[in-house]
Amino acid sequence: MKRLRLGICIWGLILIGLTTVTVKASSQEGKVVIALDPGHGGEEKGADYYGEREKDINLQIARYVKEGLEQYDGVEVVLTRDDDVELGLKDRADRAASAGADMFISLHCNASASHQSNGASVYISTGEYNRKSLMDFADYFLGEFEAIGLRNAGTFARVTQMGYRRNDGSFQDYYGVLRHAYNNGIPALLVEHCFMDSPKDWKFVRSDEGIKKLADADVSAIVAYYGLKLSDGGIYEGKHAKVYGATSKGVGMNCYDAPKLTGIELVEYDGKTPAVAKYKVSLEDKVGVSSIYLVYKNGSGNSVTVSLMINEPLKTGNHELMAYIPDGMELCNHTLSYVGMYNVAGYDAGYNYAGGSLIGFGKCDWLNEFVYNGVANLPVTVKGELSKAYIKKLDCEINLGIKRRQDVYPVSLINASN
Ligand SMILES: [Zn+2]
Repeated sequence: MKRLRLGICIWGLILIGLTTVTVKASSQEGKVVIALDPGHGGEEKGADYYGEREKDINLQIARYVKEGLEQYDGVEVVLTRDDDVELGLKDRADRAASAGADMFISLHCNASASHQSNGASVYISTGEYNRKSLMDFADYFLGEFEAIGLRNAGTFARVTQMGYRRNDGSFQDYYGVLRHAYNNGIPALLVEHCFMDSPKDWKFVRSDEGIKKLADADVSAIVAYYGLKLSDGGIYEGKHAKVYGATSKGVGMNCYDAPKLTGIELVEYDGKTPAVAKYKVSLEDKVGVSSIYLVYKNGSGNSVTVSLMINEPLKTGNHELMAYIPDGMELCNHTLSYVGMYNVAGYDAGYNYAGGSLIGFGKCDWLNEFVYNGVANLPVTVKGELSKAYIKKLDCEINLGIKRRQDVYPVSLINASN
């Protein structure tokens, strides 16, 4: 599933009555029923790189996993799709429910806008039910992936861009299949096996042998987690990430190298448009944050993206950053809805503004919640009008991607006039 921060996909948010399900419970004559959901299909191709289409890879993984699991007793496998068809996200979860599934596993391969990311990650629901068991199950997958040479990029839960909540107050899932499976009372995982556009990973998706390796890792994780018996009665212990050492195997970067935002505040703004505003940003990052953008919404729901100007990568600490507020956008009429950031290693984190807090889904942060220190409609220091000519110059430079040193924008310039 390609991670598009700004693509808002709002599928049915209607909640069906929830039932608590014990993850390892099996429902059909002592058999555990696993629903495998090959992501995408038909016109909906998913990630598409170098002639490899995610929808085809996902389906082939699913077929291999089914074949692999059927060598074991005590398991029944159903596929939500077994051909190249487009299938709605709710339909997938409903098919799993009709089959009496005990577990829903959506199979995907990733891609990143920067083409800099690599590794395997697992997404679980933002909901409370089964959280611990699912995180444990995810670690079986991540350990197996690491064993075949993929980076363990971590387990995540991702909230909706809009910060929608369930009736119980918890944040709604971004991923439709997880949301619908959760509503159907089925524990669910979404597995992003690797990055199709990463030179480190693409060997896994460019040959049948590679795809088979991914599927074998899935089979091993499922077999170990459920304790499925081999034909000789033996048990496969698995390579659980926490036990196997996934977080300690040093390969330069690990899942804890994603940036983390710890505070953001609008400290100076002249109240006009176009204008330059100053923000104070607190963050934690080892390698340096190279991009921070803020998405604001106005009363009509239209969004405007404001990028903070970064001259050189920002490491852990507090930073004062300037931002160009585009023509026609008065910050006072907008509220912040989202903060996104990337670091130079290509890792990203995002935070939705909801209910007075920014709720993040940064890697290895469990819905990290912190108090956001200021919204744009808070009182700000109103200064004189910025020189139109100067703004035009700034505008051109920004459009051209010219990076300026921060000291080019001293506060006094905000008082400049024609
Ligand atoms: Zn996908």
